[in-house]
Amino acid sequence: MAYKITDKCISCGACAANCPVSCISQGDGKYVIDPEACIECGTCSAVCPVDAPKLDN
Ligand code: SF4
Ligand code: SF4
Repeated sequence: MAYKITDKCISCGACAANCPVSCISQGDGKYVIDPEACIECGTCSAVCPVDAPKLDN
């Protein structure tokens, strides 16, 4: 399981700047999380202004 960024993402970059394992990168139209590296800390969800990262289960 890992967090996944939904289409609500406005590409502000806050999640990528705060992810402790640097597994978030800019993708096509939104940021994307590497599910292999995500440790489910929830930081991306906490800092996101539009609540785009969701637990993908
Ligand atoms: Fe990074 Fe934590 Fe978000 Fe996973 S849950 S992408 S480790 S900030
Ligand atoms: Fe997208 Fe939220 Fe990350 Fe900003 S913090 S890039 S809106 S997922």
